[in-house]
Amino acid sequence: MATPQTSSSLFGLDALFDNPVFAGGIGLASLGAAAAFARRGAIVSLGAARRRLLVNVEISKQDPAYPWILAWLSQPRVATGFIASRITRIHNLSVTTRTTNSRVAGAEGPVNASFFLQPGYGRHVVKFGNAYIAVNREKHSTANMNTGEPHEIVQLTTLWAYRHTFEGIFAEAHTLAAKANEGKTVVYSARGMEWSPLGDSRKKRPLGSVILDVGVKESIVADVKDFLSRQQWYVDRGIPYRRGYLLYGPPGSGKSSFIQALAGELDFGVAMINLSEMGMTDDKLAYLLTKLPKRCLLLLEDADAAFVNRRHRDTDGYSGATVTFSGLLNALDGVAASEERIAFLTTNHIERLDPALIRPGRVDMMTRIGEATRYQAGHMWDRFYGDVDISSLGKEQFLRRLDELGLFGSNPDGTSSHRHTSTAAIQGLFLFNKSDMQGAIHMAEGLIPRNFEA
Ligand code: ADP
Repeated sequence: MATPQTSSSLFGLDALFDNPVFAGGIGLASLGAAAAFARRGAIVSLGAARRRLLVNVEISKQDPAYPWILAWLSQPRVATGFIASRITRIHNLSVTTRTTNSRVAGAEGPVNASFFLQPGYGRHVVKFGNAYIAVNREKHSTANMNTGEPHEIVQLTTLWAYRHTFEGIFAEAHTLAAKANEGKTVVYSARGMEWSPLGDSRKKRPLGSVILDVGVKESIVADVKDFLSRQQWYVDRGIPYRRGYLLYGPPGSGKSSFIQALAGELDFGVAMINLSEMGMTDDKLAYLLTKLPKRCLLLLEDADAAFVNRRHRDTDGYSGATVTFSGLLNALDGVAASEERIAFLTTNHIERLDPALIRPGRVDMMTRIGEATRYQAGHMWDRFYGDVDISSLGKEQFLRRLDELGLFGSNPDGTSSHRHTSTAAIQGLFLFNKSDMQGAIHMAEGLIPRNFEA
């Protein structure tokens, strides 16, 4: 009886499998396939495990925390308290050098420089508490359209079980950053379409070191403090929480110094824009004002530049790459970034400004910071020579000399004088004669402005 044939024997497959070479090949091939399958499986499950077991935090360069995290990562190993529990193992550091032009007077040599070490690009390992953190700092090939700088990120990875460590890291990085700026005023300037700190933070300037005429400083300081205490008042009435100040007067009268000192007093930074700067267009100004850094006084220098530009445009169709009058008003009226906005506008040419600027929220208070008065000259003397001129005899002599020179607006015979001097010039005279008050008195004639000589 015929036995039924299986399909393999039908097609002669049995014979094929009986061939040792063929069977060996099949065996090897299936082993390879199994290995590839296992590898894929391992990768997939590793990926899944990674996703389940690890946690990532990505900080981009645009985020304010980015420099804090870099500074935190480059902290030295030996430290006290909380930081002691952290061992950094970063061997690949990069350096950022900042130079300033403030040479010591007359000295040759390099400008001042400060060096800031930070983790280089690539992977690092850091231990914080009991957790190991993998750090990956990467530069991308795409660039930030606003600044032209390549995008950068720092990625921190740790085990899911240690995810709460990140809160500790960010808190510590923030505390470190705050400490680094303690007693300092951060000054921001516009870089491209973004605000960036202008050099290192400056030591806070004490308000007492800026000497304005009787009551001027006090009235502005009181107004700003009153404004800062009234946020709810503005909110309740639906009024934008903004206040503007216009400081005008000749150059060298202490306008910028006062704003800097006021920022220090309030523990604010200063966000500064020079309106006469080429490349500062209406759009750019409006955009920057919507992105003001928090807790900053906005300082718009040379406000008259916008009015000069209007005249140019009206007469010859010029609309160059500087701010126009309507651009300035729109920017001041536009959406504010932070909760409060305190703007200071300065100008040496009040006559060029337009009354439309004097509106609540644009300019609420106008103050002239003028030429040096007798009161200011006396106070500046005290600040420089108070400790050696105990009986104030030197001061009397100096002020009498300035009277003789007609530098306070009147001559000794009672007639009015058109001569004035600036507080900056007086400071210059005192600096030149640091430890020689008699020298300052003898050289007082140098305070006469050039156009009044002869
Ligand atoms: P402005 O902004 O009015 O042109 P600055 O504030 O830039 O003047 O002052 C120029 C320099 O003169 C600064 O170094 C500043 O310390 C000094 N100075 C000018 N006015 C005063 C003042 N009223 N009190 C103290 N320092 C002053």
